[in-house]
Amino acid sequence: KKRSASSGSANNVKVVVRCRPMSDKELDNDHKEIVYVSEATGTIDVRAPNSTTDDTTKTYTFDHVFGQNSKQVDVYNLVARPIVDAVLEGYNGTIFAYGQTGTGKTFTMEGKKDDIKNYGIIPNSFAHVFLEISKAEKNVGYLVSVSYLEIYNEEVRDLLGKDRDKSLEIKERPNVGVYADGLTAHICKSATDMETIMRSGSFNRHTGQTLMNERSSRSHAIFTITIECSDTGPDGAKRIRAGKLHMVDLAGSERQSKSGAEGNTLKEATKINLSLSTLGNVISALVDGKSTHIPYRNSKLTRLLQDSLGGNSKTAMIANIGPADYNCDETLNTLRYANRAK
Ligand code: ADP
Ligand code: MG
Repeated sequence: KKRSASSGSANNVKVVVRCRPMSDKELDNDHKEIVYVSEATGTIDVRAPNSTTDDTTKTYTFDHVFGQNSKQVDVYNLVARPIVDAVLEGYNGTIFAYGQTGTGKTFTMEGKKDDIKNYGIIPNSFAHVFLEISKAEKNVGYLVSVSYLEIYNEEVRDLLGKDRDKSLEIKERPNVGVYADGLTAHICKSATDMETIMRSGSFNRHTGQTLMNERSSRSHAIFTITIECSDTGPDGAKRIRAGKLHMVDLAGSERQSKSGAEGNTLKEATKINLSLSTLGNVISALVDGKSTHIPYRNSKLTRLLQDSLGGNSKTAMIANIGPADYNCDETLNTLRYANRAK
């Protein structure tokens, strides 16, 4: 596929916001709700904590907003389904979950284990992909494979490989594009296959290292499905097209450097801020459409996703926020970030 970074990108980028419900802990602690979502108008109002009047309310508008009671299936149908359909047709697509730690990024992407109603975008895409494949005509063959990597501290690691401590190099080759060298790909024959693999990768992301909880909120996880489709054209020649879908659970967007971080922690925080701000710059340059330079190379995240951001690739960003007063600053930061990307 030929692509030019500046043509038609804007229509291919969609930014939505999702607000999670108050948690039991927030309710127990008597926190106040300050976020008001109107799904009908696509607007979000944030009222400054302790304000009794409306004049400190900030309003943001997006392509779509999901309120506290939004269902996983609605998020899937509105945000993910069109992108997965495009990938089945040979386009590339990327879906990001952005937001402060604890706002529902992993809930949105993975959802709840063993609770089909609360499956997130990744497992829902498996069922969708294999349903479409089952409907294909006889002369059409599909090959589906997945890989799963983590970027932590600007180091790339394979969540499905034998050696999870090995840092992978990013390389680029003509016809192949940008890739993580040595990343394993796993062929899947069914949605169940994919789910098993996804769970083992997620398990690896959340365990096996000390301070892993910390780490999972500071790392980006990219789950990639590659769908190759081959058929025989009217002239008898075999044709192959391939689409790639990246589903990205981003590192927590909270300002980390303020919290007295030193040494390694501070270094990490700087890297997270850099990759999230680079992602914001890349997306806003794509949406703007007038930029001649897209700064993909400024972070490993954008570099790895370079072939799937811009051009005729489909991109969605789901910005996750919480409704409670004590998160006001981070909520506003997330809404500003998302607003710039749209
Ligand atoms: P993050 O990955 O952004 O740190 P999580 O996905 O782990 O956040 O969500 C934090 C908590 O909030 C989890 O217990 C999760 O189940 C819950 N949660 C998040 N979003 C929702 C939602 N939309 N509806 C219900 N519970 C949610
Ligand atoms: Mg998470």
